[in-house]
Amino acid sequence: MNNNCAIVGINWGDEGKGRMVDLLTEDYDIVVRYQGGGNAGHTVINEKGKFALHLLPSGIFRDGVINILGNGVALDPENLWNEMQDVMSKGVSITPESLKISDRASLLLPWHRELDELEEQRLADKKYGSTKQGIAPFYSDKYQKKTVLAGELFYPEKLKQHLKDLLEWKNLTLTGVYGAEPISEAAVNEWVANYCEKIKPFICDTGEILKTASENGKKILFEAQLGSLRDLDYGIYPYTTSSNTTAAYAPIGSGFPGAKIDRVLGVVKAYSTCVGEGPFVSEMFGDEAEALRKAGNEYGAKTGRPRRVGAMDIVATSYGIEVQAATEIALTKLDVLSDMEQIPVCVAYMLDGKEIHRFPFPAALNDSTPVIEYKKGWMQDISGVRKWEDLPEAARDYVKFIEKAVGCPIKYISVGPERESIIVMD
Ligand code: GDP
Repeated sequence: MNNNCAIVGINWGDEGKGRMVDLLTEDYDIVVRYQGGGNAGHTVINEKGKFALHLLPSGIFRDGVINILGNGVALDPENLWNEMQDVMSKGVSITPESLKISDRASLLLPWHRELDELEEQRLADKKYGSTKQGIAPFYSDKYQKKTVLAGELFYPEKLKQHLKDLLEWKNLTLTGVYGAEPISEAAVNEWVANYCEKIKPFICDTGEILKTASENGKKILFEAQLGSLRDLDYGIYPYTTSSNTTAAYAPIGSGFPGAKIDRVLGVVKAYSTCVGEGPFVSEMFGDEAEALRKAGNEYGAKTGRPRRVGAMDIVATSYGIEVQAATEIALTKLDVLSDMEQIPVCVAYMLDGKEIHRFPFPAALNDSTPVIEYKKGWMQDISGVRKWEDLPEAARDYVKFIEKAVGCPIKYISVGPERESIIVMD
């Protein structure tokens, strides 16, 4: 049937999901973001320009595609409105027809970002490496039932009282725990008027839209943020994000709990990168790492932070595929390896004197060391290649080796950031 597809990250995030969603939206009617928030940085390069999307679904550039922010996202009205202004200023039209926000999405409130910052400061050298977009405080509050649903904007009097109650509670934490200044009710009301009112026309019952669309045979694309190893339940806790990055969460976080997902396209980078803190077994250092970072332009789309880089990690990738129940893979950034004579691949870990192939419990990761094998490089530019048979033999061998090692078919090979820089496998 192939009506619904989830595009998910298999590694630590930044795999190139945005470019894959942008490519595939041609065949889909609806694109839904179902978790995460402004901490994402999905880079899309197309005929309209170069964009780093944080909250907006990557289908926003295609005419006729409906883009949905589901109930599972951290809906930051301020960031979203600013991002919409930025994208629209580059000639992209965003209307209540092309963007729909779930009335059940919870609002990321002004204090969430402040609390994120304050907690990272308190942790000092034990910090989690947060993007400081307020995501962890937001999700904590959501599960404590201490935030506001987007649909409450249609009940202004109730909303005012609700925010007042939440603020009273939150100021206890701001002042008592962190010694920070309290936030005033006037400031919150001003923020509501400035940003929430702007996004109000886009808020609706998106569950109904998804259900009706599905009944009419429309195709839905679920766009995930980050990757398997950052999943709250399955990732490298506590260096995870605070939501579920897995395809399994897509029906819940999108507002379509009965959705059947026919394809799970796992996006995997041809080498490894990891932003922020946490264990990273196949990490490379020194000149070799610096050369790879430069070749891949590995600097965070949201934060500009240099990404940690490493060898393709077969152990972590196999686990990531299992967690996502991926049915196929898009292997991205193969072109970045074109200058390497020898390409390192982490084929196993050594832990307690034993070679292991199963991704271990997070606490054991710091004691794990990589078992590296070197594969022959191809030493030529492949960014113009569009057919499998035109790839140099060494590049084909590298791809085939990864496919066999991780046990999942590679359906796409990306050789550049542009929409058309793709090899589609038969
Ligand atoms: P996402 O968060 O998973 O969407 O990934 P990001 O956008 O953070 O990171 C991917 C980066 O790699 C972006 O700068 C993309 O433009 C770029 N990119 C994606 N695919 C390719 C590729 O095949 N080759 C090269 N050279 N760059 C790519």
